[in-house]
Amino acid sequence: MGREQIVVAKFGGSSLADAGQFRKVKEILEQNPARRYVVPSAPGRRCSQDEKVTDLLYQCYEKARQGKGYMTLLKRIRARYQEIIDELGLEVSLDREFAVIEQAFVNHAGEQYAASRGEYLNGILLASYLGCEFVDAAEVIRFSKDGVFEDERTNFFLRDRLSRAKRAVVPGFYGADDAGNIHTFSRGGSDVTGALVSRAVQADLYENWTDVPGFLLTDPGIVENPKKISVMTYSELRELSYRGATVLHEEAVYPVRREGISIHIRNTNQPEESGTLICRRIRPEDEVPITGIAGKRNFVAVSIAKNRMNAQIGFCKKLLEAFEENHIAFEHMPSGIDTISVILPREEYQQKQDAIMDSLQRLLQPDKIELDEDMALVTVVGKGMRSVSGIAARFFTALGNAKVNIKMIDMGSNEINCTIGVANEDFETAIRALYDELVE
Ligand code: ASP
Repeated sequence: MGREQIVVAKFGGSSLADAGQFRKVKEILEQNPARRYVVPSAPGRRCSQDEKVTDLLYQCYEKARQGKGYMTLLKRIRARYQEIIDELGLEVSLDREFAVIEQAFVNHAGEQYAASRGEYLNGILLASYLGCEFVDAAEVIRFSKDGVFEDERTNFFLRDRLSRAKRAVVPGFYGADDAGNIHTFSRGGSDVTGALVSRAVQADLYENWTDVPGFLLTDPGIVENPKKISVMTYSELRELSYRGATVLHEEAVYPVRREGISIHIRNTNQPEESGTLICRRIRPEDEVPITGIAGKRNFVAVSIAKNRMNAQIGFCKKLLEAFEENHIAFEHMPSGIDTISVILPREEYQQKQDAIMDSLQRLLQPDKIELDEDMALVTVVGKGMRSVSGIAARFFTALGNAKVNIKMIDMGSNEINCTIGVANEDFETAIRALYDELVE
């Protein structure tokens, strides 16, 4: 007989923002008994003007730290939870929890401790509502005392603890060091906890429930009503996230990717919709040429010219050394015969400009250095591009017709992405033109 199916379901802040959302979550969980492990975020916004509990906690702690009045904010936070307790008729009292939290704030327990209480308290309420065990993330998600996440120890503790819980709620976003001090991941980090839990229990699927229909093919702020991506690979997701598409925390992919556990992005408010599935391989019949289009503004291109550069052994090594000594990572490095350009994030470059120029002069003695400080990068991602001819022609025709001047082209040799550099002011026009030509 095969093993029982296990699905880990992580719910984002807006999916658990109030009692009504809690009800939806319970219904979703009841629809599939395999959804045995649940990872909640802190209550998010109930409407666009509302505030996330995590933000309130940061603000409240800051007031306490500065010795200013923090009680009004603490009461507001408490009221968010109390409302859920009252509306759902839960038999939970948070009196003791809030007394501990207040004391810890006054004793300056740290910003990360403060922020983590959002998930911690929401986890207690959700476990009570679902009638299942609450596993405090501080017991199982491990950090070093300097706040560095400990991957292997976490996997060990989580696996061991969850092997003794058939169903459990594990709050997202935080963990603790051996002395019991709380540390958090970066913002949005409950996605990471969800992935870690999925790996530890060797889940068949990691469901990530949120308030959007899935990954959209491009930014809806630029293209009206873009299509949704139904399925993509981990590497396509990585390319799109890197270029600015945000639905999932970047660090949430690696624990499940290694294990081949697929991630399914779903919408709590429309559970009947199919969402976006992220997996290792896509069946040929599901492959589309273009998976997504994403981009970011504000890069700089530093172009170096030196006669007979191509014949100089080690030129690139020295070039990269100039950036390495200044601790700046580059994005792309398109080259000609006697010129080579390095594309870097503009703000960081500008902060280190003088030191970088000194390094370049010293290491390379170039004939000329030119700067283009007005560059946006637009990336078209799609594994399917490999097997379709004529995509590049359509790509460039679309940009030409939209009168977008292309400053740089870089096509990854694995043909999963093609990145172009355009002027910042052409950024949106380029994305719209590419979407219209390649997708619509
Ligand atoms: N509550 C945290 C945040 O707002 C973590 C999360 O929701 O994933 O960033």
